Amino acid sequence: MVEVKLENITKRFGNFEAVKGLNLTIKDGEFLVLLGPSGCGKTTTLRMISGLETPTEGRIYFGDRDVTYLPPKDRNISMVFQSYAVWPHMKVYDNIAFPLKVKKYPENEIRQRVKWAAELLQIEELLDRYPGQLSGGQRQRVAVARAIVVEPDVLLMDEPLSNLDAKLRVAMRAEIKKLQTKLGVTTIYVTHDQVEAMTMGDRIAVMNRGRLLQVGPPTEVYLKPNSLFVATFIGAPEMNVVAASVVEGEGLWLEGSGFKLKLPDDFRELLEGYIGKDVLLGIRPEHMTVKGVSTLEHVTRTAELEGVVDFIEALGTDTIVHAKVGDHIIKIKLPGHIPLPVGEKIKIGIDLDNIHIFDKQTEKAII
Ligand code: ATP
Repeated sequence: MVEVKLENITKRFGNFEAVKGLNLTIKDGEFLVLLGPSGCGKTTTLRMISGLETPTEGRIYFGDRDVTYLPPKDRNISMVFQSYAVWPHMKVYDNIAFPLKVKKYPENEIRQRVKWAAELLQIEELLDRYPGQLSGGQRQRVAVARAIVVEPDVLLMDEPLSNLDAKLRVAMRAEIKKLQTKLGVTTIYVTHDQVEAMTMGDRIAVMNRGRLLQVGPPTEVYLKPNSLFVATFIGAPEMNVVAASVVEGEGLWLEGSGFKLKLPDDFRELLEGYIGKDVLLGIRPEHMTVKGVSTLEHVTRTAELEGVVDFIEALGTDTIVHAKVGDHIIKIKLPGHIPLPVGEKIKIGIDLDNIHIFDKQTEKAII
């Protein structure tokens, strides 16, 4: 186990900057998820940590060791990819044993270690089969067993579950997380799936366009996003974002198309420079309620908007109410099945301690 430190990492391909000035420390034994949309530089970052790619600028440390220019074989890392990359001509046993053979472990230790990894991944029964005789989920287990069998200092995973069907993906998510906790191996996991990131990561590092935007525990990134991008990338349905202006009049208000919200007095200090200016108001669908049909729990301060039901999405466990407020369609997530009639006038309650206000120009969070 080691701490992995990325210091001022930039990667250019020709004139194109795929990763820009990245500073990030992954703690010893931590499960860190690199999250972001396609093309944001996650895989490039992972490849630099593995040694498959060299940074144009900056340094990478494993503990005190500067590994920036070390080849992958000298880093004691293992990788698991989206394409399982298990060798079809080798039996499962030989696939798992392969990295040990390369490292010239003695035969009896190879046997013991393969047994240990196969038990952990619950694939002991499959050791005599060829990968062609396995399901996708089983093949991915083999790939994970092969990755951990050498007890790497750092485990790198690049979208390892994206080829699996939805149900299996959910099951494997929990298994990989449990396995990592058990092994305590420093793990860096790349995904564009925010649910995967939320459920697996000790911390999430959100990237966009080559830059690291925010890093923190899942609930912190979810509840206190530092920018509009992070706020809207994490959470489903997506956070509602509407244009508003900050206005004064017996306290501070947010005024926008079809609504006027009174803000608590303690918002004033942060909003002082924005009085009379345009901002963006963000509210998550689960931080609102429809008065008379549902209540917000553990909420101390609320505000009210008026709207009209435009559409209802019944998900079974939840209902997503699409409400028209002025020019906007706002989504409200209510627990349970709530069949509100389209066209009905509703009063929408908002949890004021969970609203977000963003600077319109910089898109950084003010509140
Ligand atoms: P995805 O989820 O689609 O894999 P990603 O966030 O992992 O995306 P990267 O694969 O790191 O993204 O790519 C980041 C950017 O760098 C992309 O615009 C990609 O086209 C570019 N890029 C990656 N590798 C190279 C290369 N060898 N040469 C030129 N451009 C590259």
